[in-house]
Amino acid sequence: MTPLDSATSVLRGVTTAVLDALLPPRCAACGEPVDRPRTLCLACWSRLSFIARPLCAICGNPFETAPPGEPVCGGCLANPPPWRRARSALAYDESSRPLVLGFKHGDRLHLTSLLAAWMRLAGAELLADAEVIVPVPLHRWRLIARRYNQATVLAHAIGLSSGVPVADRALVRVKRTPSQGHLTKSQRARNVQGAFRVDDRRRSEIADRRVLLVDDVLTSGATAGACARVLLRAGAASVDLLTLARVV
Ligand SMILES: [Zn+2]
Ligand SMILES: [Zn+2]
Repeated sequence: MTPLDSATSVLRGVTTAVLDALLPPRCAACGEPVDRPRTLCLACWSRLSFIARPLCAICGNPFETAPPGEPVCGGCLANPPPWRRARSALAYDESSRPLVLGFKHGDRLHLTSLLAAWMRLAGAELLADAEVIVPVPLHRWRLIARRYNQATVLAHAIGLSSGVPVADRALVRVKRTPSQGHLTKSQRARNVQGAFRVDDRRRSEIADRRVLLVDDVLTSGATAGACARVLLRAGAASVDLLTLARVV
């Protein structure tokens, strides 16, 4: 962090604290008045689906009823993903979408500590094992347009509170991929082929380390899968995946 960066973040912290004291606190999702700042109202809380056990030991998808032993879903048995384990805090649905998209595009960075705390809970086992946190990168042109990468913001918040170092420049997005929203699973996989690489100068931040890859949403797994493969090829000992939300 440069002195200017830290001065900016101190100033931002002071500004946030002053605003919190002056303005009535509002729900971070719907804007209704609440009793504490940077939290959700009861209605928004109760609509969110937090992912809980029983879940697949590999992909983290919740089961309706737990199979005996170490539960692994049929999808993971037939088609093992490149990461070791994936965990997410929330189901990505009608209720969580405004929160996730507001954080991604809407400058709702005041949500960071709340969302990171949920992720830390969901990924406690993964974090206990992690030696380095790596956010899924944006292409630099998209980063300029959006001004921040939501995955990097979450990665730093989780790193700060857990003490696990963050390598936010080791993995880079070299191909500008079109939006994945309307693509099929195989189109998504093709879309991100060759999109990522590990910066040669920063390979030592990854090599022989247990990596925790962090992103905001897990949908088809194509993006996270491409990142995990590139990290493993660069010598990562293992890759776990932690996201804020996932399609269930
Ligand atoms: Zn609300
Ligand atoms: Zn699974």
